[in-house]
Amino acid sequence: MLLEHVPAAVALLDNDMRYLAYSPRWLSDYGIEGQDIIGRSHYEVFPEIGDEWREFHRRGLAGETVASDLEAFKRANASIDWIKWEIVPWRDRSGEIGGIVLFTEVVTEFVMSVQANGNLIAGREALLRSVLSSVPDAMVVIDDQGVIVSFSESAERLCGYPEAEALGQNVSMLMTAPDHAAHDGYLARYHATGERHMIGKGRRVIGRRKDGTTFPFYLSIGEAKFGNERYFTGFMRDLTEREKSYARILELQSELLHVARVSVVETLATSIAHELNQPLAVVASLVQASHALLEVPDEGTTAIVREALAEAAAEALRAGEIVRNLRNFVVRGEVEMTNEPVAKLIDDSRLLAFPGAAENGISCHVELQDSLGSVRVGRVQVQQVLVNLIRNAVDAMAPQGRGEVRITASDEGEFARITVADNGPGLAPGIMDQLFQAFVTTKHDGMGLGLSICRTIVEAHGGRIWAESTPAGGVAFHFTLPRDVTDDDIDRRSSHLRIAAEAVV
Ligand code: ADP
Repeated sequence: MLLEHVPAAVALLDNDMRYLAYSPRWLSDYGIEGQDIIGRSHYEVFPEIGDEWREFHRRGLAGETVASDLEAFKRANASIDWIKWEIVPWRDRSGEIGGIVLFTEVVTEFVMSVQANGNLIAGREALLRSVLSSVPDAMVVIDDQGVIVSFSESAERLCGYPEAEALGQNVSMLMTAPDHAAHDGYLARYHATGERHMIGKGRRVIGRRKDGTTFPFYLSIGEAKFGNERYFTGFMRDLTEREKSYARILELQSELLHVARVSVVETLATSIAHELNQPLAVVASLVQASHALLEVPDEGTTAIVREALAEAAAEALRAGEIVRNLRNFVVRGEVEMTNEPVAKLIDDSRLLAFPGAAENGISCHVELQDSLGSVRVGRVQVQQVLVNLIRNAVDAMAPQGRGEVRITASDEGEFARITVADNGPGLAPGIMDQLFQAFVTTKHDGMGLGLSICRTIVEAHGGRIWAESTPAGGVAFHFTLPRDVTDDDIDRRSSHLRIAAEAVV
């Protein structure tokens, strides 16, 4: 039964090499199917068997087990099979050798698959090698004791050690303090606790070259296990160039910031020059008028001239204040913040914005919520905002020869909201989105700076500024300013609107 079913070629022979029994595979594997070989000599069945085999048989019959390595065996049909055979002596009940067992295993398929895998492995190895040599990262493989077992070409270049010198060394030689001293401890801790600190993650570390110089690199570590052995692969990406260019970018950024600061100062200077025009023009016309009046002086003229000169002096002082504010800003980067009653800010600005322009049919209404009180601001700067907005409104309405500037202010909790609205032609198409950008203008002599300066000032106060179209087709500019929170006058909270001033300009 056993011999019938064993999936191998097995034959039992006596001391004279005559067949006692065999498995069916013995017949089929050796191409002698259909023959009755029991009792026949092995050498008669296979007359081609030479001396070498006869010697193996003799050794088996003498009590030795003889086994082969892999052997190529040529079949009758000329095909080649890979086989392994074994010759084992068998003993009878008395312990005497009764003959030998011939056992042959055909391992062709196994050999084929090993060869195929071998090729595959060799192929994979070649692939891996080519990948590793082209990967820009340097690769170092260490064993579980930190000893370098593989050192790629780019690692040679990066660290300055030839492979032969690096192999067998402790990887800590590539490190700087504190890792240099602590690395063995890291490995020991990992073996003891299994806690991963670096594996699977990456971090920036400083490496040390053979010549002692150091370099920053990004290290990512992987782990590989073969049976009981454990290896760690470290990929090192040189960060030297990247960090150099990063430093360069920072440098450029700070240059840019410097330029931006300069341009803020420039913008401010331009705006202040722009603002100085107003009081200086007033001074000039008041002085010129006084000069004309004094040509034929009388009692009445003197009084008018006195008044005009007082006004001119006030304007000249205001011009001085603007300059002083600029100096403060440039020197300290800040302007003096004071509590200013909203009503006074608006009144002053309204007067400033209409110097001597009484005849063009444009009126100005101011409506204040009387709970408003004060705001905490740089006074001259906020005047600038208001004057700019009022001038823009007047400019927009001037061509139509009439119109109304409506200035309103209301309480918005911590902020006061001031609105300058007109009933002019409205914004030019497409300008809304870039209204507050510098150098955006539709006026042939405009600089496009006014609104951008307004925004800078309002935002510097923590407020915001925006524009919208009014139902009448004009434009309303709104901006907010922080209220003076210490002023808690109860009356302030009543929310009646009052017309504070009305002027026909
Ligand atoms: P500039 O006065 O030099 O033109 P601004 O920043 O003050 O610069 O204004 C930019 C543009 O916004 C103006 O050229 C104008 O087209 C538009 N604008 C500003 N205010 C008004 C307004 N009240 N009505 C219509 N257009 C306005």
